[in-house]
Amino acid sequence: MEHIQTLVIGAGAVGLAIAAELSEHHDVVVIEQNTHFGEHTSSRNSEVVHAGIYYPSNSLKAQLCIEGKALLYQHCQSYHVPYKKVGKVLVAHGEREIAKLHALVQQAEDNNVQDLAFLSQAELAKKAPQVKASLGVWSPSTGIVDSHQLMLSYLNKLSAHAGQYVNNTRFVRAQFDGQHFIVTLNCDGELFNLKCTTLINAAGLFAQSCAKQIDALDARFIPELYYCKGQYFSYQGSHPFQHLIYPMPEQQGLGIHATIDMAGQLRFGPDTTFIDTLDYTPNAQAKAHFVKEIIKYWPNLDSSRLHVSYSGIRPKLFRNGAQDFVIQDHTVHGIQGLINLFGIESPGLTASLAIAQHVVNKVTRPLG
Ligand SMILES: Cc1cc2nc3c(=O)[nH]c(=O)nc-3n(C[C@H](O)[C@H](O)[C@H](O)COP(=O)(O)OP(=O)(O)OC[C@H]3O[C@@H](n4cnc5c(N)ncnc54)[C@H](O)[C@@H]3O)c2cc1C
Repeated sequence: MEHIQTLVIGAGAVGLAIAAELSEHHDVVVIEQNTHFGEHTSSRNSEVVHAGIYYPSNSLKAQLCIEGKALLYQHCQSYHVPYKKVGKVLVAHGEREIAKLHALVQQAEDNNVQDLAFLSQAELAKKAPQVKASLGVWSPSTGIVDSHQLMLSYLNKLSAHAGQYVNNTRFVRAQFDGQHFIVTLNCDGELFNLKCTTLINAAGLFAQSCAKQIDALDARFIPELYYCKGQYFSYQGSHPFQHLIYPMPEQQGLGIHATIDMAGQLRFGPDTTFIDTLDYTPNAQAKAHFVKEIIKYWPNLDSSRLHVSYSGIRPKLFRNGAQDFVIQDHTVHGIQGLINLFGIESPGLTASLAIAQHVVNKVTRPLG
């Protein structure tokens, strides 16, 4: 049986970043069940490099988003990954939202994001033409990135360090013998076993189902999974925006915001809908809701140019309330060499390199 040091399950942005980072220290193989890497959440998101404004202080999300943002911008420069630090404008309407925006600015300061600035109405009109708001705040470190090129750069780094990426290969189960994992993989319909010392479960929306197939792992360490769909509408043709426009966040998402992609195309979303099965089919019926939300901050919207686009699904661990990334090692579940990542929703793309470093520190530090 082949024996490798580390197996990473899942070639999304997070699994690839972890594998690339680990390949500097270990021999590592990352497997992907699909023919192409990153076909799930990592290619179904807003491609925003988040500043680290929203997350509770001391959360992994706050820490890894802020570290990840700096690492990501550096990495994009070194690996020529297309990105733009376009900045974003947060907008509030009325007393209640103004109070919310002040609270967000405070939260950002508590998270050590020190570069937010309140905008005068004249500055607001310049940065966000045609946008209606009682108050605006500017976030200069927010950006956008080409997520496909980013993942490709992780893959290139992995290959440069002789790490391996194997597609069409599904993790089936793992048995822990006290020191190693005997892992069963389904490679293009054929089952085979390999042995590894470290097993990293970065399977995103499938992390819980993979974890259930690790024999030694007690079920109480596997959190619930709720699919929370986020849909986008794209806006055809020209528009007045050069920066991202964000209304105040909602319970489970950041509100229907306006983002631009690397080609300058405007899109709106994502909304939030809990669903029972993993289904990416977009719902054109949601247009009325999108129009209602968008015209609150952009009254000039030409709704005939708004077209249903793609959707993504957040791997939520709860239906309500703030939630953090969950990254479990042996100090949590008692199995040496096993790392499970659960609930890696936004800002997972921004945080991918910081998550990778966090995981690598766990893997390479002395036993304890
Ligand atoms: C609507 C939406 C908008 C978002 N916007 C942003 C944003 O603007 N900025 C930001 O920073 N983050 C954003 N995010 C979050 C970000 O996209 C995710 O955190 C990140 O992409 C997660 O990457 P991942 O590698 O953990 O998961 P995935 O990309 O889902 O990768 C997991 C991979 O594991 C593979 N896999 C699963 N099971 C197996 C198995 N048994 N064997 C082998 N392979 C397997 C899957 O096929 C998949 O390729 C958004 C998310 C959503 C849903």
